[in-house]
Amino acid sequence: MQHTPYWWDAAGEPDAPESPITLPAKADVVVIGAGLTGLSAARTLARAGRDVLVVESGAPGSGASSRNGGQVGGGHRLPPASLDAQYGKDTATRLLREAHIDSIDFFTSLIDDESIDCDWQPVGRFRGCNNRREYEQNARALEQLNRRIGTHAYPVKSSEQQSEIATDLYHGGTVFPTHGAINPAKFTYGLWRAARDAGAAFACHTSVLGVSTNARASIVKTTRGDVIAGAVLAATNGYSTTALPTIARRIVPVPSFIVATETLGRNRVRALMPSGRVYVESRARHCYFRPSPDGERLVFGGRAALCDVPDRFATSQLRSLMLDVFPELSGAALTHSWRGHTGFSFAQIPHVGTVDGVEVAMGYSGNGNTMAPYLGHKAALRILGDADAETAFSQTAFETRFWHRGKRWFLPAADMRFRVQDIWQKLTNSL
Ligand SMILES: Cc1cc2nc3c(=O)[nH]c(=O)nc-3n(C[C@H](O)[C@H](O)[C@H](O)COP(=O)(O)OP(=O)(O)OC[C@H]3O[C@@H](n4cnc5c(N)ncnc54)[C@H](O)[C@@H]3O)c2cc1C
Repeated sequence: MQHTPYWWDAAGEPDAPESPITLPAKADVVVIGAGLTGLSAARTLARAGRDVLVVESGAPGSGASSRNGGQVGGGHRLPPASLDAQYGKDTATRLLREAHIDSIDFFTSLIDDESIDCDWQPVGRFRGCNNRREYEQNARALEQLNRRIGTHAYPVKSSEQQSEIATDLYHGGTVFPTHGAINPAKFTYGLWRAARDAGAAFACHTSVLGVSTNARASIVKTTRGDVIAGAVLAATNGYSTTALPTIARRIVPVPSFIVATETLGRNRVRALMPSGRVYVESRARHCYFRPSPDGERLVFGGRAALCDVPDRFATSQLRSLMLDVFPELSGAALTHSWRGHTGFSFAQIPHVGTVDGVEVAMGYSGNGNTMAPYLGHKAALRILGDADAETAFSQTAFETRFWHRGKRWFLPAADMRFRVQDIWQKLTNSL
């Protein structure tokens, strides 16, 4: 069993092949973190002629960006009605449009403009419903969403579900035809090359230890010396640390886990997922899965736990979740099992803004392949003072709780609560 992402087999491990640069004394902008957010921001800033230094603790993509499930597509954890109640109808509509349409448009032009070969397959996404009541609510909400922003998403009744997926676990679902699949490591490395070719400098295997800001500049303290920066962008999402304590207190790093099966063969994979889409579900376990880019395996992710658990435990949890969906895979071996950290904001929606003089773009809450490059770009435009910086995500809540001091002490308790919720969901669905 390999404990590295399946994607790295084809794309290679995150690596920083250039010899380490001597840190410059000054930069127009220091970007902290070289995942999809930081790389996209660095590309935009460098293309606008700014002197950009990206400081990354590991190698580009070594956070969540090269490890994720490779599902592409927008959407929010919160339903439109909750967004309306919290942000008002106009802002909520813009939040929906940017997530469902603008961020996907940005993603597709990015891979076209930069010729990023990332195994992009615009196959659409099926979201399975946990029970009939939820299906009916979803179908009504979808009608409103289509009227409001035109996503072209459509419901699939449980009687027609077998054309999408060979399981009885779901009670119908929704298809989002503009979503799709990538190899996330290839995408991240492609974006890294684009940022580097645009002129951004990288200091990898270098950690930011703190930032102090005054009206004119910031001093970024790193493990390899200080840099004076005109502006600083924190693009650290689920890997945020107490080096920037006010930001770390606003993000909850929640682990997510993935396994890949052995080669099952195209026919078998196609029989399980006849429409060949990417798949998510509305259960508390929030499983997400898809065929591998070559169509030979199943790549299956989910919330095996809310806190860090041993590999063996995570793998067995995922195996049992996978068998809930596809019991016929009981004899299939797993070849890869890995994990990464998603970054949740308390409002469960991303945010772009300024915290203690540092620009931030984060809080993707598990959905960052389109949102992170899109909001990294928006954050860069804010720094540039560009009119196109406008985004409704600068109006989302980015709050902390008095009990979150930046460390994840509360996640084991949350994990227990979530397991009880899961058991309850199973019981009530079987009634
Ligand atoms: C297992 C898993 C599955 C997922 N599946 C999907 C999916 O299918 N579809 C989807 O859209 N999204 C998915 N996501 C979410 C998506 O991967 C993230 O939202 C996205 O990658 C966030 O990008 P980022 O650049 O903001 O953060 P990251 O890629 O996490 O990068 C943050 C970087 O900051 C660096 N850093 C942190 N602190 C410091 C410091 N002090 N100094 C220097 N560097 C620092 C870290 O080393 C890290 O490289 C998944 C996430 C995980 C973990």
